[in-house]
Amino acid sequence: MQKELGELAGLWANGAIFEVAGPDGQWIFRPPRFQAAQTPLPEAPAAGMSFVTTNLEALQYRIARERVVIGGGVFLIDAAVPTEPFDQALDRFRLTEKRFLPLLVVLASLLGYWLSGRALAPVNRIVESAEGIGVQNLSRRLEVPREKDELRRLTETLNAMLGRIESSVAHITQFTADASHDLRTPLALIRTNAEIALRRPRREDEYRATLARILAAAEESTQLIEQLLTLARADAGATQLRFEAADLSQVLYKVSAHARILAHAKGLRFCDAVDSEPLPVNTDTSAMERLLLALLDNAVKYTPEGSISLRSYSREGQAIVEVRDTGVGISETDLPHIFDRFYRADQTRSRDVRGSGLGLAIARWIAEMHRGTIEVASELGHGSVFRVHLPLLNRENSVAVAPERQKTTADLAV
Ligand code: ADP
Repeated sequence: MQKELGELAGLWANGAIFEVAGPDGQWIFRPPRFQAAQTPLPEAPAAGMSFVTTNLEALQYRIARERVVIGGGVFLIDAAVPTEPFDQALDRFRLTEKRFLPLLVVLASLLGYWLSGRALAPVNRIVESAEGIGVQNLSRRLEVPREKDELRRLTETLNAMLGRIESSVAHITQFTADASHDLRTPLALIRTNAEIALRRPRREDEYRATLARILAAAEESTQLIEQLLTLARADAGATQLRFEAADLSQVLYKVSAHARILAHAKGLRFCDAVDSEPLPVNTDTSAMERLLLALLDNAVKYTPEGSISLRSYSREGQAIVEVRDTGVGISETDLPHIFDRFYRADQTRSRDVRGSGLGLAIARWIAEMHRGTIEVASELGHGSVFRVHLPLLNRENSVAVAPERQKTTADLAV
């Protein structure tokens, strides 16, 4: 066995060696290197293989120990390989690492910088174009990336938002310009009248006439300012309507009396057919009065001769108020715009009729705050009919319910 093991040891390459101990605890085979080092008889591992690193002569070895059972006898086998080649490889690796690591770090950083630069280039483009957009050039849009990714979605969303901002700003600019223009007219009238009156001494009746004109112009501008304030407050959501359960018929009686005086003063017939049944609605009564008076005022204003009628009834859970006139009517082209701010249909017909074009915008806002609507039907030269629809209160919703959130005119796109 000694001889065979010796031959086998000779076949092992790379300086690997082994030793074998028999069941009686005596060495069966030991190469000279193990003998010289006088390594003690190895401890038998409980099971499997154990490893130890030790020096044999001048060399370091990694030894694997295993307990092997052959023919009922327990043999211990040590197999050892010199660690030097591994150490050398490790040293070479360490050396290479030491030399090239800084270079690798620099290269990796440069690559990272380049890659992030490439990835962030579209973001930078978006930032640059966004920085160039201001209130003066709101029509400009961000460049949309070609790739269909999140950045493209983001850019498209931002562009859509810019579109909405642009139209809101245009709306505000137009509103301001119209308001200034409309305010200039009565102010110019006041100034001109005062200047002419002051040029030379006049009779008392002349002064009175001038003062009457000044007063009318002042009243007109006061009304305009009040309407502008209403819309501005509504836009800002600052107008809080106070809703309560009330009988709409009572509001109608009140406005009807006012409209009758106006109509008769102009020589018009006035017909009132207000439902005698109570019409319970959830309403801010003063705002509702304002809405109905605006419609009745218009009916009187735009009816040179003929009649005005006010009617109310309930249908399918709704209270309906109808203001009808036999006046000038509204053309089909004007009809879709009469609720727009400052819109006045056909200036030649309404030239002699005072107005700002804000009354119906406010009326519609009030109706929508009540969760109601205003609809209009008209025929040019024959008259118009405006109908206000409001939800009736029934047993289920008879507890006064204010709209969940007070809408603004912006919400209602007045
Ligand atoms: P205004 O102060 O000019 O009356 P409104 O907002 O109340 O402003 O009305 C807008 C426009 O709608 C009016 O200028 C008028 O041309 C038209 N309009 C409103 N009501 C009537 C009506 N009953 N008959 C004819 N035209 C009307």
